[in-house]
Amino acid sequence: MANQTNPLSGYFRAPKLYTKIPSGGRFYSPDVVDMPSSNELPVYPMTAKDELIMKNPDALLNGEAVAQLISSCVPSVKKPRRLISNDIDALLVAIQGASYGDDIEVKGNCPTCGKECSGIASVEAALETMQVLESTYTFETHNGLVIELKPFSYESTVKAGIANFKSTRSLQGLADIKDEMEQLKAFNDSFLRIAALNFDLIVDSVANVKGVDEEGNTFVVDDPKMIREFLENCETVIGKTIEEKIAGINKIGVNKRVQLECEDHGAFEQEVGFDPVNFFTAS
Ligand SMILES: [Zn+2]
Repeated sequence: MANQTNPLSGYFRAPKLYTKIPSGGRFYSPDVVDMPSSNELPVYPMTAKDELIMKNPDALLNGEAVAQLISSCVPSVKKPRRLISNDIDALLVAIQGASYGDDIEVKGNCPTCGKECSGIASVEAALETMQVLESTYTFETHNGLVIELKPFSYESTVKAGIANFKSTRSLQGLADIKDEMEQLKAFNDSFLRIAALNFDLIVDSVANVKGVDEEGNTFVVDDPKMIREFLENCETVIGKTIEEKIAGINKIGVNKRVQLECEDHGAFEQEVGFDPVNFFTAS
């Protein structure tokens, strides 16, 4: 009896659209993403259960809501937490399109007169014009090392989100502390935590460091402990350059800029809020 086919199975949801992802699946083994030969992943609309989990603030904050949503709506993704953030972003846009239709209403204020203008963005157009990541990102330091960077993992992004949330919370709590010295100490603690986390993210984003030793032999360091030790002891310009390059890499993917039109002052650009926390809780 357990194997009896459900007569309703023909009415289960079907994929609503197919999308590529910024990485092209290049960084993943088949146990992370089962990439179809077309390189386009089938995307299903959300179920009622998916919508519910996207309204759970704790699950949203620790990344579980997004991980579960992607497992449910993009079953080719086997381990969502292992994806890079650029791919997660693109899939969230695709899931929104599969669930609520292609049109997204976008609002923004004209930079000249401040009047609110609105327009329609297309999910499909955003997915079609997505930028693709290169297979490697390297740069050379002033002292002859070649540093290879990798895009942020979703796991790192979640860590950063939690730290930001905690620090905002503890900064809000500062006003309640009456003693000035205590207040200063709390502020310092919060600042140090954020600095430590930013440093972790920089370490995470270095894939390897290449150089040539005194005998002229090439070496490659990819041990995270050695990379951390190097970053703790190198000149700050190297850390700053890594931060800048990583910020650029993180922006590659779905184009979130949309043209809006003010009757009096013409077209201007507005960023679409494809952020899951914003758009899912709002709908
Ligand atoms: Zn205007």
